[in-house]
Amino acid sequence: MSKSVAIVGAGPVGLAAAARVLERGMTPIVLEAGPEAGHSVRQWQHVQLFSPWEYNVDKAAARLLVTTGWNSPEPQVYPTGAELLERYIEPLATKTPLRDVIRTSCRVTAVGRAGFDKAKTKGREQAQFEIRYQNGKGPETLRADAVIDASGTWGSPNPAGAGGLTAIGEREAVARISYGMPDVLGKELARFAGKAVAVLGAGHSAIGTLTDLTTLAQQAPGTRPIWLLRGTEPAKAFGGGANDKLSARGELGARFASLVGSGQVLVEAGFPVAAITQADGRLRIATSSACCGRSIVVDELVVATGFRPDLSFLGEIRLRLDPAIEAPVALAPLIDPNEHSCGTVRPHGARELVQDDPGFYLAGIKSYGRAPTFLMITGYEQARSIAADIAGDKEAAARVELELPETGVCTRGGVESGSAAGCCGGPAKQDVSACCADDERAKQTGAAGCGCS
Ligand SMILES: Cc1cc2nc3c(=O)[nH]c(=O)nc-3n(C[C@H](O)[C@H](O)[C@H](O)COP(=O)(O)OP(=O)(O)OC[C@H]3O[C@@H](n4cnc5c(N)ncnc54)[C@H](O)[C@@H]3O)c2cc1C
Repeated sequence: MSKSVAIVGAGPVGLAAAARVLERGMTPIVLEAGPEAGHSVRQWQHVQLFSPWEYNVDKAAARLLVTTGWNSPEPQVYPTGAELLERYIEPLATKTPLRDVIRTSCRVTAVGRAGFDKAKTKGREQAQFEIRYQNGKGPETLRADAVIDASGTWGSPNPAGAGGLTAIGEREAVARISYGMPDVLGKELARFAGKAVAVLGAGHSAIGTLTDLTTLAQQAPGTRPIWLLRGTEPAKAFGGGANDKLSARGELGARFASLVGSGQVLVEAGFPVAAITQADGRLRIATSSACCGRSIVVDELVVATGFRPDLSFLGEIRLRLDPAIEAPVALAPLIDPNEHSCGTVRPHGARELVQDDPGFYLAGIKSYGRAPTFLMITGYEQARSIAADIAGDKEAAARVELELPETGVCTRGGVESGSAAGCCGGPAKQDVSACCADDERAKQTGAAGCGCS
């Protein structure tokens, strides 16, 4: 009988995993919390992707799509999230054989091994997985031979508090706080027009939102974008510019640098948020909950400080995660933002993603835990390798079939390195313990490595 594989989440990576599982002659069942596939992408559909189509379409998914008469998009064109949905995710989920295996409005609430609590070992590996989910009619249970958790991180944003805890008063002020990347030029224009808006964070979501707010300021006078940064060096957020192989990402950083330079974005650097209080319908954001810190008063706060994985439904699974990054231990050193910020992570797969409960894998952006550098194409390679592993094709599972785009600037051991040759020399080719080509070369010469890991 063919193996059954439960896939949590019908985002781009969950769908790619389903396509790969199907291609291997196994039976996928995709459980999606939202009413449609691509539910998280839908929340940021107004955003222009920084990767062009050639990096956004999974090959197995494309093979399913071509049988439906699908017009593949131009490889060099950059879609918005809405176009990603319309031209790829929706046809994949509704017009190919995947439509029969996706169950929408099904939120997974717990995963375990049937008949085995976490502490019980003997015979555990032979037991099927038991997946509990809610579909509005009450709790349902599904059994499967393997589980791929591709449920993303969009639902669990990091809070505003600088220490990773919610800031004092943050929960009470939530009506004036948005998380992630709100649609300031579209659906939510009225909320932000003519307002003083603080945006907290230093990643692409923060600089994208601030850039959009400067556009809004031209239409709606009185709109004041204010950039709140924990760090003291704004220039670090400007990215790789012309050296970034994903040129849209490089251009976004370069354009933002000029908006900051011209004073269209006010900068409050070295501003670790500790407390948020409400007064006269406005927010006072302060670096201290006591009397003497710095503070600013704004109408709205956008918290764009990244995301963290929701591990709450995995309590009965034997996970082995890095305690800091919350990514699988073999993957964490390759993506640890303390060490290096490369988008050029060595391609990896089942070997790095499998957990101590064989048959259970983390995939997609959730597999990166708290690290911010995930690319869809990395997830597609994960899906290929995991499906091969579940099918028992260990050789294909171990093979690397991906060349990743490079970022022009990354940090390595805290040292910033701009490099025409790409970040840290690009991804490592062979050595599973190497985080990049420089590290791999150093290890081949008998050195400990280059300091990436
Ligand atoms: C604003 C933004 C822009 C980005 N731009 C790019 C880009 O240009 N290029 C690029 O390569 N990457 C980009 N990324 C990063 C990443 O590739 C995307 O976030 C991508 O959507 C990740 O795919 P995923 O399938 O892992 O997760 P998601 O797309 O988040 O999908 C997870 C799915 O799981 C569902 N789910 C969650 N919890 C449960 C549950 N308990 N039970 C069942 N279902 C559940 C969700 O509803 C969702 O549909 C961007 C990310 C963001 C936020």
